[in-house]
Amino acid sequence: MGAEQRSARNRFAALPIDRSQAFRERAASGDSATLSLESALRMAVTADGAVCVEQHETLRLAAADASWAGMAVETIYLGALGERPVVAYVLAEAIACAPDAHERRWMDLRSAAQGLSETEAGCAAYARALAHWHLRHRHCGACGAATRSASGGHRRQCTACGLEQFPRIDPAIIVLVEHAGRCLLARQPGWPNKRHSVLAGFVEPGESLEDALIREVHEESGLKISECEYHSSQPWPFPSSLMLGFMASTDDPALTLGEELEQAAWFSPAELEAAVAADTIRLPPPVSLSSRLIEDWFEARTGRSARHLFR
Ligand SMILES: [Zn+2]
Repeated sequence: MGAEQRSARNRFAALPIDRSQAFRERAASGDSATLSLESALRMAVTADGAVCVEQHETLRLAAADASWAGMAVETIYLGALGERPVVAYVLAEAIACAPDAHERRWMDLRSAAQGLSETEAGCAAYARALAHWHLRHRHCGACGAATRSASGGHRRQCTACGLEQFPRIDPAIIVLVEHAGRCLLARQPGWPNKRHSVLAGFVEPGESLEDALIREVHEESGLKISECEYHSSQPWPFPSSLMLGFMASTDDPALTLGEELEQAAWFSPAELEAAVAADTIRLPPPVSLSSRLIEDWFEARTGRSARHLFR
């Protein structure tokens, strides 16, 4: 399996949406003759990243009420799914939903993503990332004047000096480290009870992805990486990351924990199964790339499904 196939399995990735610039400009100019916005998938996202959902046989994005368009602080034209435009209304806060047959409500995307279809979860992630960017770039970084949205919500322009800003993405590496058939799982204080996961950290200016990986692993665990291979990537809009996943190995398993970790240990596949079964550790939720790295490592080492490790 190639990296493009591995990435396509990651939640929020491989969204089959047409992001073409021409579409954005046409949508922003209100060219409704060709866009038929009435038929659009109109979703709503709040400033703090909640999405409005409904319960049908499965969870679905709720169609925004027509009145919400007028209350939106930003309107973002995400693209088109086939011929159907996708529009996100960014609301300052959640609007109370009247009780209805479909239990319309607001949900944090991390929770909603476990129930939404791949396509709707991807659209919601895309909208959440752009909403967060818009609401934190309302003033120009050069002159301080107000900025305004342009290109259907994919650019902001300063109203005084004209400086253009484009949506920001923060790259972060996430890495499963292995030594002699055992993988390293660690725990940060503040994580949910018993949660253990692989190591991760932000890429800093002046670093390659591999530089960042080697630095982060050493800072957090004291380990020296001897080899690493790219695995896959995942858009991670909490709030604006792109996760870049790697598999790595070390020749020396001696751990010296840095300030970020309160616990770290090596697990063989059998030890991992036993620890999960005894509920002494809990693995990350299946929507995350960390869970995918652990799953792929377990399956490669045992030839068995890892599904029972994730609840
Ligand atoms: Zn300016």
